Amino acid sequence: MILIENLSKSYGGRPALKGVSAQVEQGEFVFLTGPSGAGKSTLLRLLYRAELPDEGRIVVGGADVASLRRSEIASFRRRLGVVFQDFKLLRRRTVAENVTFVLALLNVPERDQRKRAFQVLRQMGLQHRLGAFPEELSGGEQQRVAVARALVLQPDVMLADEPTGNLDPERSHELMELFKTINYQGTTVVLATHDRSLIEAHPARTLTLERGRLTRDGWGGVG
Ligand code: ADP
Repeated sequence: MILIENLSKSYGGRPALKGVSAQVEQGEFVFLTGPSGAGKSTLLRLLYRAELPDEGRIVVGGADVASLRRSEIASFRRRLGVVFQDFKLLRRRTVAENVTFVLALLNVPERDQRKRAFQVLRQMGLQHRLGAFPEELSGGEQQRVAVARALVLQPDVMLADEPTGNLDPERSHELMELFKTINYQGTTVVLATHDRSLIEAHPARTLTLERGRLTRDGWGGVG
């Protein structure tokens, strides 16, 4: 469950989020939308504790995010899957290594690393690309590696910031189906997008931000 209470955040005196409150239940699929600059990325960054709010409270999976101690942040983040628009893949590592890397950080035994990496990469349709380097992949494939890397930790919550931003409509649609599958399997998904057509094609609960305020909590892309 994600609980957001009266969240505010400013940068250099300019508010990016103003008094935002919302609740997302475990297993929900939620779009976060609004024009560029509305505060979507800021809200996601606060959710995974990349930054701290000026005011308000965030609870993710029982953890009071803003009051986590430094030593608790890494284990908190491991329960989240985060996908960025620009993928953030390791350029000098293969597809398989990009995924096993996060498992190695957790001291997962090597045999299990390979097994789990192969499993999620197969789920993403990338089993034939295990030895490829990111630059040899299409944008859609790179994005699927990024999703695989987030999924391999079997997160309770998946946060994705404009994950279809670099994809053509067909690949965007494929990626959306993937997020829906992940969601059917029980993972809470919060997906930020400014793309209204994406929401219209895949209607779900939609939180709309405008100039840092939550202006709508409804179904689909209307309004
Ligand atoms: P969105 O993701 O909806 O496009 P953002 O959360 O990126 O919106 O930005 C919200 C507002 O906060 C914008 O006015 C943006 O310029 C500002 N902002 C975001 N991050 C920073 C930052 N690190 N430093 C200064 N201003 C920022």
